Amino acid sequence: MLQIQENVPLAPLTTFQIGGSAHYFFEAGTDNDIHRAVAWAQERKIPFVVISGGSNILFKDMGFDGLVIRIRTMDYAFDKGVLHVGAGCDLLTIIRLASERRLGGWEKLAGIPGSVGGAIRGNAGAFGSEIKDFITTIEAFNTHTHEMKTFLVSEVAFAYRTSFFKTHPEWIILRGSFVLKVTDVGEGETLIKATIAEREKRHLQSVKAAGSYFMNPVAPDAVRAQFEEEKKTVAREGRVPAGWLIEKAGMKGATEGGAQASEQHPNYIINTDNATAVDVLALAERIKLAVKEKFGVTLQEEAVRM
Ligand SMILES: Cc1cc2nc3c(=O)[nH]c(=O)nc-3n(C[C@H](O)[C@H](O)[C@H](O)COP(=O)(O)OP(=O)(O)OC[C@H]3O[C@@H](n4cnc5c(N)ncnc54)[C@H](O)[C@@H]3O)c2cc1C
Repeated sequence: MLQIQENVPLAPLTTFQIGGSAHYFFEAGTDNDIHRAVAWAQERKIPFVVISGGSNILFKDMGFDGLVIRIRTMDYAFDKGVLHVGAGCDLLTIIRLASERRLGGWEKLAGIPGSVGGAIRGNAGAFGSEIKDFITTIEAFNTHTHEMKTFLVSEVAFAYRTSFFKTHPEWIILRGSFVLKVTDVGEGETLIKATIAEREKRHLQSVKAAGSYFMNPVAPDAVRAQFEEEKKTVAREGRVPAGWLIEKAGMKGATEGGAQASEQHPNYIINTDNATAVDVLALAERIKLAVKEKFGVTLQEEAVRM
């Protein structure tokens, strides 16, 4: 028997701390749990979604009228320099466990909240490193056909904050395999600490938010030139930081109910005071409008609305 719970509050399961309850809720600790939960919903014709770390999600105030499957598969195995890890494993935890075995190279990803599966889906990255740089294969489960497949990294179209899995949500990521390099004694821990210290300076770690709300857009040449001239830097992949556009469009610090475009990092929409999903969405719309009017650029959400 599956231990399906009813009317489970979703806000505490997300870093935004926003959203109503899940009509049905299930924590999946094994691949078999995931298969059975999907079958349970499909047999009853109930909509379902998967979540994991909840660090890139905005649930509606009315919650989710279906089954929320929280992926908690935390198995891992080290096989020489290769790490096989369950999608539900916390990314920082596994980076630390690898470092204890003197395996690393991916320490710049330390401190990105959320799970391995969530990071693969969105090709999470920071400080010039992305999860795609370390991954070799991904095991996934197709909820339409119930097929299991091991994808090669070349098959999943990784690019800036996206992958095949983002555009094909019928696939649930079960596990990733990563090739890590051997590090010197203590090297991994030093790099992890340095990365986290840098994040704490630059990224806003302990706020109720979903990280960057919008993706950095590819901007028209004139906008890119203005950014490069002002910041004395080169726009990576032709992308201009959404936070810079938001600030220039006069929306830094803007509020809507309990939601605010952060003063420190305007691309973070923060739940400052019991914000609702309606507050966040209204503020996001105002930001999009202001940036469009000022620069002719359409911002696209990185955070997932459910
Ligand atoms: C303070 C803060 C800082 C952040 N900094 C960064 C940063 O530096 N770089 C960066 O890239 N991101 C950053 N983020 C965003 C977030 O941490 C990443 O997007 C993270 O990878 C999401 O993982 P998750 O497990 O929390 O996913 P969730 O929020 O649980 O889910 C996000 C999406 O992934 C899907 N998903 C989750 N697990 C699976 C799975 N197993 N199979 C298929 N789909 C799945 C969900 O259905 C949903 O659509 C930050 C967020 C916060 C709150």
